[in-house]
Amino acid sequence: MTYRTVNPYTNQVEHEYENTSDAAITAALTAAHARYQEWRADPDSLQMRKAVVTKLGELLRARRTALATIMTRDMGKLIGEAEGEVDLCAAFCDYYVAEADHFLAPQPIYTESGNAHLLKQALGVLVAVEPWNFPFYQIARVFIPNFLVGNPMLLKDASNCPTSAKAFCDLVAEAGAPEGSLTNLFASYDQISELIKHPLVAGVCLTGSARGGQAVASVAGAALKKSTLELGGNDAFLVLRDADLAKLKATIAPSRLYNAGQVCTSSKRYLVPAEMADQFTAMVKEVFEQVKMGDPLDRSTTLAPLSSKRAKEKLQSQVDRAIAGGATLVYGNQPVDLEGQFFMPTILTNITKDNPVYDEELFGPVAQIFTYQTEEEAIAMANDSAFGLGSTVFGADIAHARQVASQIEAGMTWINAGWASLPELPFGGVKQSGYGRELSEFGFTEFVNQHLVYEAE
Ligand code: NAP
Repeated sequence: MTYRTVNPYTNQVEHEYENTSDAAITAALTAAHARYQEWRADPDSLQMRKAVVTKLGELLRARRTALATIMTRDMGKLIGEAEGEVDLCAAFCDYYVAEADHFLAPQPIYTESGNAHLLKQALGVLVAVEPWNFPFYQIARVFIPNFLVGNPMLLKDASNCPTSAKAFCDLVAEAGAPEGSLTNLFASYDQISELIKHPLVAGVCLTGSARGGQAVASVAGAALKKSTLELGGNDAFLVLRDADLAKLKATIAPSRLYNAGQVCTSSKRYLVPAEMADQFTAMVKEVFEQVKMGDPLDRSTTLAPLSSKRAKEKLQSQVDRAIAGGATLVYGNQPVDLEGQFFMPTILTNITKDNPVYDEELFGPVAQIFTYQTEEEAIAMANDSAFGLGSTVFGADIAHARQVASQIEAGMTWINAGWASLPELPFGGVKQSGYGRELSEFGFTEFVNQHLVYEAE
């Protein structure tokens, strides 16, 4: 059995699911394609889809804690953070229902030789491959816009959060989405490859690791299917000399410990002026010492377990390799006396360019602190990464902070704040962090046919 909920706080197997058969996948594809054709032939069907998304938002809000609990049991996140995730999904519903008509309106193009306009049309059935770290959010941010566009979706979610995937898809059906709109598949990698190659599939979006992205995008590329990839990050958090220290301290926990540090845009590398290094390191240590590990369903817990035994083992091996490679352990990396998959918040310094983890993503509560002499050097360090997802610049002079932000090779930069995700803000990266954007109008139109219609004079 591949798809299982193993509660990372108790290590108990709570649910197991049979893999979806080839015949069921074919039936799901057939239903999805029929839906695409029906919606494409009926422009008024957008009103039905808007009503479904409105209802979905209502159901999410009405069942906030029950739904959040499913995610917590699947992958261990704190219940309050899981509730926040449900709220954010409901906000996606509001935003896209309000904007769908505008985003799908034909767009006139000025030309001297005739009349031209762009029709915004659905592309067809999409495959979505999604990770476990935000079990609802990741599905919502691709499903909601594409459903409104008229692209039905076949979902392959992470094998360690199947109960969340099932719950989300059940909720969409309960909100009134007709069969074929969103189908959850407990599918193997081979089944997903075959699906992507199928002529009735128009494209694939994946959020996950570079390894998963490479595998899925190469199948899509060979089949000439459009893909978008939202991959990992090794985000730099650049502290400028005029940073407001109180604000900075308040940003450390959300930027590194939220979701037990398992966020693609978590701040993973803190770049600090050399003369501020001791003060900053002490600040991070004070924040890390205050965490309370425990039951993620208990609202007094502030640091959740990692998502799985495998995730903990991977992080431990990276920290071990970092230290063996010359990094200094300043704090943490001690065993935690709890049976769940807990990892003690850890601070590493003196990570040199030849350290084996220098260009790796550490997916958990580990802060790497680097020092710099000049801002030029700091910007070069921020950019010295295979990844280019998010970044933070902390400084009181906003004009200067903006100037620094513009020099960072990343898809996103937050000034005087840790990472965030909002419906209207495009989310995505450059370099090995992937291509394409999710959320905002950019995310809405990734799988839209910008169909040019030109009328000669
Ligand atoms: P992963 O191993 O790549 O898994 C992500 C999804 O891809 C899962 O559903 C996985 O299925 C599937 N998958 C992997 N290889 C596949 C293949 N060859 N064929 C078909 N499906 C395949 O990623 P992860 O390590 O679980 O997720 C964490 C990563 O996601 C981190 O690197 C994080 O930074 C990144 N992430 C990025 C963003 C963003 O927006 N840029 C957001 C969140 C997370 P199984 O579970 O069955 O293996």
